[in-house]
Amino acid sequence: MNKLNLNTSWDYSDAPESTNHIILEKKYNLFINGEFIEPKSKKYFETINPATDEVIAEIAQADKKDVDLAVKSARKAFKSWSKIDGKERGKYIFRIARMIQEKAKEFAVIESIDGGKPIRESRDIDIPLAVNHFFYYAGWADKLEYAFPNKVPQPLGVAGQIIPWNFPLLMAAWKIAPAIACGNTVVLKPAETTSLTALKLAEIIKESGLPQGVVNIVTGPGTTGSEIVNHSDIDKIAFTGSTNIGKLIQKSITGTKKTSTLELGGKGANIIFEDAAIDQAVEGIVNAIFFNQGHVCCAGSRLFVQESISKIVIEKLKDRMSSLILGDPLDKNTDIGAINSKKQLSIINNYIKIGKQEGGEIYQLKCNISKKGNWCPPTLFLNVSQSHTVAQEEIFGPVLAIQTFRTIDEVIEKANNSPFGLSAGVWTERGAKIFKLTKELNTGVVWANTYNKFDPTSPFGGFKESGFGREGGLHGLRAYLKFE
Ligand code: NAP
Ligand code: MG
Repeated sequence: MNKLNLNTSWDYSDAPESTNHIILEKKYNLFINGEFIEPKSKKYFETINPATDEVIAEIAQADKKDVDLAVKSARKAFKSWSKIDGKERGKYIFRIARMIQEKAKEFAVIESIDGGKPIRESRDIDIPLAVNHFFYYAGWADKLEYAFPNKVPQPLGVAGQIIPWNFPLLMAAWKIAPAIACGNTVVLKPAETTSLTALKLAEIIKESGLPQGVVNIVTGPGTTGSEIVNHSDIDKIAFTGSTNIGKLIQKSITGTKKTSTLELGGKGANIIFEDAAIDQAVEGIVNAIFFNQGHVCCAGSRLFVQESISKIVIEKLKDRMSSLILGDPLDKNTDIGAINSKKQLSIINNYIKIGKQEGGEIYQLKCNISKKGNWCPPTLFLNVSQSHTVAQEEIFGPVLAIQTFRTIDEVIEKANNSPFGLSAGVWTERGAKIFKLTKELNTGVVWANTYNKFDPTSPFGGFKESGFGREGGLHGLRAYLKFE
């Protein structure tokens, strides 16, 4: 059997990213009507560095009155923002894109400090993609009638936007850029554990001269989110987060004037056929599940390997895992950073416990784990079956459930046997197999011979309990417009 020769006998020297260039306040207020203002609630909460347990800053906690103020400011701004020339709107959005680009390094470091993701990922993926989203939608702002020929596109009004902690700035970009390009105004709530880059974005928005009230950013826990959802003067709720909260939101807005898009959880099937390029597929498995510590809605968290090659694939996967470096998110060599919060770590550990109790065979990478911070080594569960909890439920951590299959129809049935329908990956050299799977897999995205590729021009979103609505591309504009 050809083992992967990764020659891991050397040690890497530390390669810490410098933090000299970052400016962080000790205390952050709410961004409402173009100003940073103290919360009427008078309450603040702490944001923590998940790799060290250190408190980074205090952040304002918005209550009902604060949310109401933000919605009023967005409503007032909508009157003029919805009427100004598209070219003018585009000008501001291009400016915001360029300003984030100028501060890309600062954003990347703050994203890694606040959320725990490796600096390589925040530097090379999160921040550049967030910038690209602003550039892409800036370009559409004055071309909406070409995007939807023979229709008269109109903005919806005030959008309430609620985002999770796994890609904080990127999710803010996915929400804000298309909404304001279409002439809407927004009230956005970042996740409690990762508000800092959204607040840095607020600083840029203020400096960009964007008219006051077009973007409002209110921070706080889930209760702040539910004040947004239940506010009577919001026209649209755009939510990205867990399926459970998504269901609650959908219930609360039923019967109101609000429209919604819900981007929810996933349990992606990554399918490796015997004719695949195996070494590339192994690289793809690692990227699919261990990227961002597995805190990825579209993670390839269910691996299906064709039985004839399962032994060699698993052998090579273990070899490849042995070269992964877990540790300081700010070190440029790090592959696996910190788990975002203590709460998420205990959710993951509980799934690992259940996996063992249900008889899964566990394999974990041996790593030196710091006493401080939240860490989970890359984990495999071998010999699991469809009914195992680790193969059914979203773990949202670096835990991969591995199953085998013999035929294409069997794997399609197994892959579709999930309440979710967000993403899948297919590894084969046969185009015909790729087309069969893209047609028959009930998921919003299918990657072929690659995984976790994102681009602002291409729509993203799910079926079944993964939610509805699309973000990215023309579809992403559609979600913020009505047609007369
Ligand atoms: P979550 O617990 O559902 O939280 C998402 C956001 O909703 C956070 O800002 C949260 O605030 C807020 N929230 C909590 N309770 C709320 C309520 N009752 N009403 C309104 N808002 C409320 O999800 P998460 O743990 O942050 O994120 C992980 C989930 O997001 C995973 O299931 C993942 O698959 C999904 N996700 C989906 C996509 C996609 O595009 N489909 C992309 C990324 C992530 P706090 O954080 O302050 O509690
Ligand atoms: Mg934090």
